[in-house]
Amino acid sequence: MFCPFCNAQDTKVIDSRLVSEGSQVRRRRLCNECNERFTTFELAELIMPRLIKSDGSREPFNEEKLLVGINIALEKRPVSIEAVENAVNKLKSTLRATGEREVPTKMVGELVMDLLKGLDKIAYIRFASVYRAFEDVKEFGEEIAKLDTANK
Ligand SMILES: [Zn+2]
Repeated sequence: MFCPFCNAQDTKVIDSRLVSEGSQVRRRRLCNECNERFTTFELAELIMPRLIKSDGSREPFNEEKLLVGINIALEKRPVSIEAVENAVNKLKSTLRATGEREVPTKMVGELVMDLLKGLDKIAYIRFASVYRAFEDVKEFGEEIAKLDTANK
């Protein structure tokens, strides 16, 4: 990286540390020409893929919308805001890690169901019952039976 003071090409890193809980790298650099010091930040490009809806239309990823759905499912359940935030951050990382520019909304729905399954089983059933719009009572019963088995 060129020196911002004298444009010299020869600068060296004198300190490097993780900041913002590891999401950024902060580097102190020293110019070998003019001896000025400066700081650079390195940050991963955080681009969420766009969502492909079932009718083929596209929409931007909307975290607020996602949280509304998750919070409705979690209403009156003993789950901390922190746990929800961590789970949502993990979900976003998973989406980014696909490296895709567009992903089907169905994939996000499945990820939300996994997320809720890990947080609270009642919330999971609430969400799943709406999201999947269970075609028949039998299917809904099977989901509950699966959870019952998992609990034993
Ligand atoms: Zn310089």
